[in-house]
Order: sequence, then structure tokens, then C-alpha cells
Amino acid sequence: MTVNDKNHTLGHAVNKLVQGGFRTPLSDYRRLLNYSNRSRHGIDSHIDLEDKYDRQIFDFALRRRLLQEPISHIVGYREFWKSKFFVNQTVLDPRPETEQIVERVLKDPSPKLSILDLGTGTGCLAISIALEKPSHRVFASDISLDAIKVAKFNAKRLGAGVNFIHSDWFANINRTFDMIISNPPYVRTRDFFRLPLNIQRFEPRLALDGGKFGVDCINQIARKLNQYLNPAGTAILEIGIGQKEMVRKLFNSHGYKQVDIFMDLERKERFVCVKKDA
Ligand code: GLN
Repeated sequence: MTVNDKNHTLGHAVNKLVQGGFRTPLSDYRRLLNYSNRSRHGIDSHIDLEDKYDRQIFDFALRRRLLQEPISHIVGYREFWKSKFFVNQTVLDPRPETEQIVERVLKDPSPKLSILDLGTGTGCLAISIALEKPSHRVFASDISLDAIKVAKFNAKRLGAGVNFIHSDWFANINRTFDMIISNPPYVRTRDFFRLPLNIQRFEPRLALDGGKFGVDCINQIARKLNQYLNPAGTAILEIGIGQKEMVRKLFNSHGYKQVDIFMDLERKERFVCVKKDA
């Protein structure tokens, strides 16, 4: 293969991604390329496309991407906080904004906290916290057994001590915690059908659809939360853009006087934080 052929490969693949309306064609290209080369050479280099097998893997990966499959499903992982998490169609793909929940939890100076991550999916929140703070006792629940399987796999692979519980929100939880965290489904049902195809086709609706106004799950959590928090315990939940007032009222109606909303790195109101009412 000559230099021109190599450029042709790059141009061709990137063009297809551009034509397909992908927003980050160059980075998509590099991640697919890296993946195609990785198993054989462990390096990121165009030259490896000279290899017939790498080339086949790359072409197949590109085709999957053009059918909207998330890069994380093709390459098998998504980076979150400091680790790589295995992801498939049964779990929500970790989003960078959710990392801020980890940051908030780590700010607590207590040396030994008990923490529950409700609806853990890949396990990214619980596992990241457990890895950072091995002295905390970290629990993680999910209604989906498939998700629990993925999260357990991630915990084992990353060497994180997390206790998993199969539970529909609090249904099977029988202890209290210093902190309860969650990234629950919060997309309004009608918005779910307007989400990009890569999300609609490849991510579980169960992890995204929060009902008519998007706050059904947040409401379910808020209703029971107090029973499961230790004195002075805190809860941090991710919420959708524009849900601030609705969520505030909802927590007020469940007896929480102080409801703090904080922003993500794009300055969007994205999290709600409440303390156990005394
Ligand atoms: N941020 C996600 C999205 O808009 C939604 C995640 C969630 O419902 N928890 O795709």
C-alpha cells in the first residue's frame, strides 16, 4: 500500500462518517482504527491497515458505526472517570457529565461511608467510587439482571469491592446508607423517540425513559429515600435539563425543605442534592 492509498483510506472512512452525519468523524475514525489494530499490534498507526486482517476488522467496525452503533459497543468499552467499562445493549453508556457525582462523593472527608448506587447499569459510579475509596462500603442495585451481570463483570475486572443487589429501586434494600446516589432514567417518553438513533436503537429504554414528564423514577426514589438514609445522610441524583423546578417541588412534597441543584461542566442544571430531613 502506498502513502496515497493510506490517505485514501483515511479520506474514504472519514468522508463516509461525515456523510453519515456523525458529529465527531475524526475521533470516531481514530477510535475504530485503534481498535482494529489493538489486538495485533497494540499501537495506533495507519500502517497497520496494510494488514489484510486489520483491514477487515476496520471495515466491519466502520460498517457497524455507519449503522449508528455506538463506538463503545463496537470497541467493547467506554471510559468513565479513571477506568474502562465494558458496555453492551443492556446498559446505559456512561456519560461524562455523570462523573461529577463521583467527584461530589469524593469530596466528603469521612474515611468510611456506606454508599448505595441505585440503578447502577455498567456499575460505573459504584465501581469508580469503590476504587477511589476502598474503605467505603459500596452497594449497587439494578432492576435488570443483565445489567447486574455487566456491572459484576466490570467490578471483577477492575478489582472493585462492590456489593450488588438485584432490586427495583428500594424493593430489596434492607439497610440504610450515608449516601445514596443515582443516575435514574429521566427522559420524557415522547423525547425518547426523538433521541439520536444510536441511543434509541442501542441503549436500553428501561434506563432512559422516565415516563410522561421524565420524573417518575426520581419520584419513586424521593418517596422512599428518607427511610434508607442514615442521620445526616445525603442523596445525589442526576436529573434532566429543565427539570429543576419540577424536581424541587417533588422533593418539597416529600418533606425535604432544602433541595440543592448543581450544574454540570457545561453549566447545565443537572444534579439534585438533598439531606435526610431530621
Ligand atoms: N443523559 C442521557 C441522555 O440524554 C439520559 C440519561 C438518563 O436518563 N439517566 O441521553
